[in-house]
Amino acid sequence: MRKGHEYIGWREAETWRCMRCGYCCKAFAIPLKFIEALELTRRYGPVAMQIGEKYYLVKRNDGSCIFLRYNGPIAYCQIYLERPGCCRLYPFHITKKPLKGEGVKNAKIKINGTTLYLYVDATCPGVGVGYPIKNIIYKIVELWEKYKKYP
Ligand code: SF4
Ligand code: SF4
Repeated sequence: MRKGHEYIGWREAETWRCMRCGYCCKAFAIPLKFIEALELTRRYGPVAMQIGEKYYLVKRNDGSCIFLRYNGPIAYCQIYLERPGCCRLYPFHITKKPLKGEGVKNAKIKINGTTLYLYVDATCPGVGVGYPIKNIIYKIVELWEKYKKYP
């Protein structure tokens, strides 16, 4: 399990909707694929940092992502259409093997004959409200498949 995340199976969560709270843009490091770091740096200047062999979005002193803005209480992303894959996938997390300690039955999905495990980060305030996750499973898997191909 990644530090700070509390993954539960999607069946346990049942529903989700983004509440535009901005929590995820403050609480976690934002990993970038190499191609994302390259492209965002080309467009916006020094917005990515390298730690070892990994790349991350630069954060402000208060821990928030440099692209996070607020309109009153509503958080929005300044680069919404170009946001990194990990931001598009959050609060969902897909694995090929079940996470230790998590209910396998609640996470298992079968897509085109392949078994995967779909988790949701229960620290996201949008988990448990909103719309049925079962209706967007294909979209989440599609995004994950696209993102994992990035160098
Ligand atoms: S923490 Fe959840 S509800 Fe809040 S902005 Fe992120 S995805 Fe949306
Ligand atoms: S890039 Fe946008 S969505 Fe991703 S952490 Fe920054 S503000 Fe949030």
